[in-house]
Amino acid sequence: MSDRLNSILFEEGEDHKRYFNAVAPPIIQSSNFLFDSVSDFKKAMSSEDTSHIYGRGNNPTVEMLSKKMAALEKTDAAIMVGSGASAMSLAVMSQVKSGDHVICVRSPYSWTSALLDNYLPRFGITCTYVNGDDLVEIENAVHANSTVLVLESPNSLTFAIQDIRACAHIARKHGLTSIIDNSYATPIFQQPAAMGIDIVIHSVSKYINGHSDVVSGAICSSEKIIRQIFYNEYMTLGPAVSPSDAALIIRGMRTLPIRMKRIQETARQIIAFMKGDSRFSSVLYPFDPDFPQYDLARSQMTGCGGLITATINGENIEQMNSFADALKHFKLAVSWGGPESLILPISALYGQQGRPDPDISWRVARFSVGLEDGDWLIDDLGQAFDAAGIAV
Ligand SMILES: *Cc1c(COP(=O)(O)O)cnc(C)c1O
Repeated sequence: MSDRLNSILFEEGEDHKRYFNAVAPPIIQSSNFLFDSVSDFKKAMSSEDTSHIYGRGNNPTVEMLSKKMAALEKTDAAIMVGSGASAMSLAVMSQVKSGDHVICVRSPYSWTSALLDNYLPRFGITCTYVNGDDLVEIENAVHANSTVLVLESPNSLTFAIQDIRACAHIARKHGLTSIIDNSYATPIFQQPAAMGIDIVIHSVSKYINGHSDVVSGAICSSEKIIRQIFYNEYMTLGPAVSPSDAALIIRGMRTLPIRMKRIQETARQIIAFMKGDSRFSSVLYPFDPDFPQYDLARSQMTGCGGLITATINGENIEQMNSFADALKHFKLAVSWGGPESLILPISALYGQQGRPDPDISWRVARFSVGLEDGDWLIDDLGQAFDAAGIAV
């Protein structure tokens, strides 16, 4: 860890003398704050984003977390919100008005596409999806009314990557605001603001909190953009994070670099097993040399997380479901980034009432590697293959 990272995680935003020299960050569980005088009140009201007036605005525990979040992403400032979906929505909405046009990489996180496909069109805002690895296609999608370029690199299923520096350059050249979802890589492994991106958002529910017990999001950007978002989208839509959740996130964040290091090592061990086992026909992972965008991944990420997408030689949907049922340590769940390893088998998404089958093969499963021992997890894969009758 760098000296700076040490100070961000263990000192930034903390001021122990203000709370009885308590070591742990205090949970200031108060919706409201008092003033000693009318003159103090007036002073606070002139800068609601940095004063403590009311909990929908700025709470001291949440403020401590925002300072750490901004420092991690090397941006001037950050706003914490109630979910990653809220972070993306506020970031995009802050940069558009009726009649504007958004450019977004194809197949982003499902609720990012819901925002762009279902919600914003109500206000006359249109979207073009582009192939994120085709810079010409991205630049050709820019129209006179385009204002935003939305990236997600890597995404959380196929790990498709964009050339972040080149995309930031295109955005700047055409006066677009560039926004990236950096949830997968975390600021430990990828720092998009330093590569020219304007707004970095996170699902803090994933690695940053890292303990599967909080849903939260973060928006990191310049002083100017964060102030704009604070006084417009944030105060009007009201997605404030609770002080107790903020304290949990600060606690989770302290171990972020240690967890990411461990998760990366275990992911490597599991990938080595998968690639040597004929029951897996393919394995996707950005830092695997066979990954189609391996060189690009290496050029802009300093490490890689614990999501692995593998194709398994199951004979049919039922057998894939039996495999997932038989796993004991890879638990069946959506989401990722917590201490427990998970599997999301695509086969489980087939045959749902009232929903079309996915356009991804039922042989595919996404694994999220947690903090358990690699050997223990590999044994689990072996016994579940045997139980489901999937043979070498
Ligand atoms: C989970 C996720 C989100 C949404 O975050 P929530 O905290 O669940 O709202 C956004 N982007 C990516 C890549 C995610 O995995």
